[in-house]
This record gives sequence, C-alpha cells and structure tokens, in this order.
Amino acid sequence: MKQQILIVGAGFGGVWSALSAARLLDIHGRNDVEITVLAPQAELRIRPRFYEPNVHNMKAPLLDLFDAVGVKFVQGIAEVIDENNSQVSYRDTLGRQGQLRYDRLVLAAGSQLMRLPVEGLLEHAFDVDQIEAATRLEAHINSLNNVPASAARNTVVVVGGGFTGIETATEMPARLRASLGENTDIRVIIVDRGPQIAAAMGDDISPLIVEASEHLNIDWILNSTVASIDANGVTLGDGTRIESNTVIWTVGFRASPLTEQVEGTRDLQGRLHVDKHLKVLGRTDVFAAGDVAYAATDEAGNFTVMSCQHSIALGRYAGNNVAADLLGVEPMTYSQPKYVTCLDLGAWGAVFTEGWDRQVKLIKHEAKELKAQINSMWIYPPAADRATALAAADPLIPVA
Ligand SMILES: Cc1cc2nc3c(=O)[nH]c(=O)nc-3n(C[C@H](O)[C@H](O)[C@H](O)COP(=O)(O)OP(=O)(O)OC[C@H]3O[C@@H](n4cnc5c(N)ncnc54)[C@H](O)[C@@H]3O)c2cc1C
Repeated sequence: MKQQILIVGAGFGGVWSALSAARLLDIHGRNDVEITVLAPQAELRIRPRFYEPNVHNMKAPLLDLFDAVGVKFVQGIAEVIDENNSQVSYRDTLGRQGQLRYDRLVLAAGSQLMRLPVEGLLEHAFDVDQIEAATRLEAHINSLNNVPASAARNTVVVVGGGFTGIETATEMPARLRASLGENTDIRVIIVDRGPQIAAAMGDDISPLIVEASEHLNIDWILNSTVASIDANGVTLGDGTRIESNTVIWTVGFRASPLTEQVEGTRDLQGRLHVDKHLKVLGRTDVFAAGDVAYAATDEAGNFTVMSCQHSIALGRYAGNNVAADLLGVEPMTYSQPKYVTCLDLGAWGAVFTEGWDRQVKLIKHEAKELKAQINSMWIYPPAADRATALAAADPLIPVA
C-alpha cells in the first residue's frame, strides 16, 4: 500500500504544499507515496481580491493542475482529525461521511473572519472574507440603484481600519458611484477603535493613508466601537447613530477551528506553533501551512502573519518537508526574512512597503501597477503543465 500525504485545504498553503511535495517525490523518482488534497472545492479562491468588483471571477481551477503533477483531489469538508488513528473524517457534497488515512498530514485550512457578539451583526452586516459573502455584498451594492435615494442608501460603513478594512473602504467610492451614478452624494466611513488613523500600520505609511482618505472623501470615526447593527445602520458605543444600508465587518481573523483538534500550542489567533521545518511543535506526523501556522520567519524574532506571501512560502516548505519526512531525506529550514506589503488605496493608488517597519518604497500609480501585477498574476497557481508546476514549487524561490 502506498504511503499517504494528506493535505487539508486548497488555498495558498494547501496548493503549494501539494505541488512542493509532488516536486520532491519527482526529484527522488518515488511513486510509492500518494498525495491527496481534501477541500470543499477544486479551486484556489483568491481571497486577497475579495474587496474588488467582479468577485465571482476571483478563483482559479485546480483539477488539471493536480492531474498534471499526480495529486489526487477529494471534495469534502474535514470534520474530525483523529490523531490516534491517523485519519481525517470528512463530509462530501452529498452529506456522506468518509475517512482518509494519512502517514503525514498537512493542515492548511486557512482562517475565518470572527463574528463578535454584536447585536445584529450576523443578520445585517456584510463582509469580504469568503467568495460567497463578497459576492453577496457585490449583488447588494449593484441593487442599491433600485432603492429610493436616502442617506442610508448612499452610505457605506466599514467596521475596522486594518489592512482589509482600508482596502475595502477605499474601493467603495468607485463601486458605489458605478451603481448609483457619478454625481450621487455618497459617503464612506471607517469606524475604528484606535486613537489615530492606521497608526498600527507604521509611521511611514499612516500619513499616506490619511492623504488617500482625504482624496477619496473617506471619513474615519476613531476611538469607537460598534454597539449594534440593523438594516438601516449602526449605533456606536457612545450612542452615535449612522444611517447606512451597507455595513461591512472586517475585524478579527482566526485560524480554522480544525487547529483545535491538533494537540499543540496555539497563538492568540488560534494558529499552531510549528518548528523550523513547519512540523507542529510536539507532533511527529502533522505539519501546518498558511494561516493556521505560526512560524518564525527569521532569527530576528519575526513571525508569520496571516498573508499570501507567508502562506505561499509556508506551503512550499511544508510540502517539501512532509515528503522529506516520509522519504527520510534532509528537510529544509523555513526562512523568509523579506517582508513586504502592498496596500490598495482605491482611485488614489497604492502603497508598497518593505521591512517589518513598513518603509515606503512606492506610492500612488507606481505601487498600484505593482498591486495589479500581484493580484492578477503572482498569487495565481502555475499553469497545468507538470514541469512548469513542479519547478514553480521550489521552496527557494523568493515570494517577494
Ligand atoms: C479581503 C481580504 C484581503 C486580503 N488581502 C491580502 C493582501 O493584500 N495580501 C496578503 O498577503 N494577504 C491578504 N489577505 C490574506 C490572505 O488571503 C490569506 O492570508 C490567505 O488566503 C491564507 O491562505 P491559506 O491557504 O492559509 O487559507 P485560504 O486561502 O483561506 O484557504 C483555505 C483553504 O482551506 C479550505 N478549508 C477550510 N476549512 C476546511 C475544512 N474543514 N475541510 C477542508 N478544507 C477546508 C478552504 O476551502 C480553502 O480551500 C487578504 C484576505 C482577505 C479576506
């Protein structure tokens, strides 16, 4: 019987784990190990683009790619990780239960937006976390032109002024005007609990976010939390009322709940601590990649953040090392000292930074061109050609 590598999740971490494991098996001429990816869909959903319009297109098919490199795909949702019996129970699209045995497991089930216990949040707030939710928001925005004009119709409230909140908010003026007409008096508001605009993102970058917000006429309400949300708006903690038919929640991401089924240490976001080979600390046969993994990126004390740039690299190393573990060959030490960000700021442009202190390197249209390249090319999977795909999975290829 073939040895089994099971990868749970077909996001950036899962896809690159599968390709990289296939690459190492190919290098060693081994066909006695089977790689299986278990996920709800055989497509890579491009989450970093979910704040953009035409969101239903933001996915790439995977079946041909997996076929080309000899990876098996099982469609289903993992429910139980049984470490004692080395198997994962899942439910398929028809609701039937199945089991997949593994010799080595890579958990790559990503992260989810947290819904805090705020009154009305579940019923009335939109979000851009998963493709279904982002598509629902898009349909809602496009339907606003059938609603009689009012302050509520013309106002979008984005809750949270972090990376996702800023990218979502700065895109909103153009998206609202596309739906409601160029001359409509629209309003976009970011509600954030911090004392200053985007202060947590760094001294260099925050003045540019202020400038872009002014240019786009986006208002920030600082030092504020949301007490409740209803169909016609939000009420803030201090009682302030904002009329809005479109409230978008962007606060708080947490690793997949599957992480709780693996014995190990977790960080505050639920991510599993992994060693330098991306094996879950204290486990012998479970690796983690992508947003479920908390890994040191360098020897200077920096750790991965929930991001594509880390998920792709973590996937390549985890895939290589899970195969290396089975083959008994030397694993590779995960290292990703370069950290960059490229923040989209709507019609103002974008900001590209380098380093953990976010030193600004490009702004406005130059950064925007880079962002367009990242979003339309770099984060997509390789072509469904065996040699190309295996070559692209080399962990030593820098992501940024
Ligand atoms: C709006 C938005 C904007 C973003 N912008 C950026 C950005 O500009 N730059 C950046 O670097 N990052 C950005 N990110 C973060 C980035 O998208 C994530 O860090 C990245 O997608 C994580 O990759 P992943 O493979 O760990 O998880 P995901 O991409 O979330 O993939 C998880 C996979 O696991 C599957 N899965 C989940 N549960 C199960 C289960 N129970 N059983 C089986 N399969 C399961 C899912 O279906 C999916 O295939 C953004 C995210 C959002 C939401």
